[in-house]
Amino acid sequence: MTARLHVDLDALVANIAQVRATVSPAELMLVVKDDAYGHGLEPVVQTAAAAGVSWFGAFDVRTGCAVRDAVGDDARIFAWIAASRDDLEAAVAGRIDLGIGDADLLEELAEAARDAEAPVRVHLKIDTGLHRNGVRPEQWPAFVSRAAVLEADGVIEVAGVWSHIAEASDSEDDDARALYEWALDEATAAGLRPSMRHLAASAASFARPEFRYDMVRVGAFC
Ligand SMILES: *Cc1c(COP(=O)(O)O)cnc(C)c1O
Repeated sequence: MTARLHVDLDALVANIAQVRATVSPAELMLVVKDDAYGHGLEPVVQTAAAAGVSWFGAFDVRTGCAVRDAVGDDARIFAWIAASRDDLEAAVAGRIDLGIGDADLLEELAEAARDAEAPVRVHLKIDTGLHRNGVRPEQWPAFVSRAAVLEADGVIEVAGVWSHIAEASDSEDDDARALYEWALDEATAAGLRPSMRHLAASAASFARPEFRYDMVRVGAFC
C-alpha cells in the first residue's frame, strides 16, 4: 500500500485570509519550515504568493533559496539559521533577509556582504528567555552599536529586530515582551530604525494583539 497526502490548497488560501484578517494591520510572514510542515514547499509558497503573501519564513538558508526559486524576485524571505560561510554567501546571493543572533556571525556576514550589490538585510535577534541563538541582554547594547556601524558603512541594512517566545504561559511571554521592548529602545538609541519588529508565532499572534508589532510569523495556523 502507498500512503498519499492530499493537500487542499483552497483551504490554505482560506486559512491565510483568516490569519491576515485577524492580525491586520500587522503583516503575515508565512513560516514554511520542514517542507511547509509536511505539506510540500513549492505548491504551498506558490499558492500563498498568488494569494498575496509577500513574506516567507524559511528556517534555514537552503529552504530560503528554494522559496526564492519557487516564487521569484519580489518576495521577502527570512531565514534564521545560517550554519556556514557557504550559507551566508548563498543568503547574500539569494537576497535572503537573515536573522542574526550572534556577534561573531554578524562579523562573518559583514565579510560575506562586502562585495554584494546592495546592503544585506538583517534582523537582529535578542534572546528573551528561550536561549535559542539570540544575543543575551548584557551583550545587546554592544551588538546593536556594531550593527549601526555596519549599516552606516553600507554593508548591512537592519530591517528588523525580533525574538521568539515560548507561547506556553502568558506571564512568561509578558516577561519576554518587556525584554523585547527594552531591546527595541536600545536599538533606537544606537540609531537603528528597523521597520519590521516581530515577536509572535501562531498562538500569540491570535490571542495577544500587543504581541503583533509590524509582523507575525505564522506557520501552524495557516
Ligand atoms: C516555527 C517558527 C514559527 C512559527 O510557529 P507556529 O507556531 O507554527 O506559527 C515562528 N518563528 C520561529 C522562529 C519558528 O521557528
